[in-house]
Amino acid sequence: MSGIIIIGAGMAGHRAVIGLRANGYDGAITLVGEEALMPYDRPPLSKSAILEEQEPLPVWLMDEGIAASLKADVRLKHTATAIDRKAKTVSLNDGSSLGYHKLLLATGAKPRRLPVPGGERAILLRNFEDALALRARFQPGARVVVVGGGFIGLELASSANKRGSKVTLIEAQPRILMRGVPEDIARIIHDRHAAAGVDLRMGQGIAEITETSVRLANGDEILFDAVIAGIGAAPEIRLAEAAGLALDNGIAVDGTLQTSDPDIFAAGDCCSFPHPLFGDVRIRLEAWRNAQDQGTLAGENMLGAGKIYKGIPWFWSDQYELNLQVSGLPHLGRRIIERKPSPESLILFHLTEEGRLVGASGIGPGNSIGRDIKLAEMLIARQAHPATELLADRAVQLKSLLK
Ligand code: FAD
Ligand code: NAP
Repeated sequence: MSGIIIIGAGMAGHRAVIGLRANGYDGAITLVGEEALMPYDRPPLSKSAILEEQEPLPVWLMDEGIAASLKADVRLKHTATAIDRKAKTVSLNDGSSLGYHKLLLATGAKPRRLPVPGGERAILLRNFEDALALRARFQPGARVVVVGGGFIGLELASSANKRGSKVTLIEAQPRILMRGVPEDIARIIHDRHAAAGVDLRMGQGIAEITETSVRLANGDEILFDAVIAGIGAAPEIRLAEAAGLALDNGIAVDGTLQTSDPDIFAAGDCCSFPHPLFGDVRIRLEAWRNAQDQGTLAGENMLGAGKIYKGIPWFWSDQYELNLQVSGLPHLGRRIIERKPSPESLILFHLTEEGRLVGASGIGPGNSIGRDIKLAEMLIARQAHPATELLADRAVQLKSLLK
């Protein structure tokens, strides 16, 4: 009997099970995951999993009880090795094969390895085991070198610093968070790390990683007890590529998350999709909420709903007491309007030449910017053209612009 197969037991795969059951599907669902653990949340891995006093447990998305109540057959420690689109079967690494009538690829992304001699010595972070291994290395006084000033690098630098390690962060670009985060906000984050005692080295290439040190292209040598690379992730496309599915910066799907094969869908970090609110520009997001929402919709669309995915891109990052949030696609903006909700926080609104709001980014302590970013997101979804003087004026409630 063939049912629905979901490959990848992460956020998108887990939500697809829920999307299928919530929309009345009563047939067989098999969730295939190569990790040993039931689906768990990844954002805590660079934050609370490192910082908690006690050795942490995974933050479960689905446990055995939930899987049973959803009637999902979860095959852990199983890797899908091939898709036969003609026979509509998926081969697993134990030699078995499963038939499907609809298939979802929710295979996520994989961290890149540092492409330098000794690059394999740098620890990568993607799964729970990696987080436990890092946690054990971040001892008080330990010399920690972090390569990459992106989200993994900065969150780990903050967590290691809070645990008392001596952190050096190396970024190849002239500044941290070069892609996706505006300079004014990146500067606040940079300064906060520097104030905490992190040694930030910008514009530095790595020549080599030896057993004990990182050698920079300029000849500097930095001794370490642990070295970590957070230099980006690549979409996991191997199965899709071997099966001859269309690719374009990940597995290419249409607005309904359907791949070039009408019986195969994809969701989450592994796929790129056209966004209808931004002129159908094709994007791929590596963000928690996107994986959650796309997973749910893919479940519904595998049952034939044919709904277009319109979620507004959004992600957050926590470092020290600071919370960063970015909504929409700020890089499409040509003008920036600044708002200071409080002396310690900053929100930037990103508008096109014509004054349409296409992005909002903010930083501040605790939850000081969350509400305004949420309201900005609603304005972005409405394709609003708000008056710039009202956006800038902290006395004006953003909510009033929604009327
Ligand atoms: P994944 O969660 O990567 O799940 C894919 C699963 O598929 C994996 O378990 C993988 O092993 C499995 N798989 C792959 N190929 C196969 C195969 N052939 N057979 C079987 N199984 C397979 N986002 C935010 O917005 N905010 C944050 O603060 C944030 N923090 C993060 C911190 C860390 C450390 C990491 C790693 C990510 C963070 N993210 C954050 C990003 C967010 O977690 C991801 O966007 C999200 O997990 C993507 O979900 P996914 O289901 O697409 O992929
Ligand atoms: P990332 O955010 O893409 O950042 C990678 C950074 O490393 C970039 O600044 C990149 O610069 C730099 N870099 C690349 N090659 C380098 C090199 N050889 N030497 C030094 N620096 C180099 O990726 P990431 O931080 O590794 O995160 C990996 C994944 O985890 C992503 O999917 C990310 O979304 C997810 N994650 C998300 C969050 C969050 O959203 N809060 C938190 C943690 C992890 P270039 O721009 O030049 O490439």
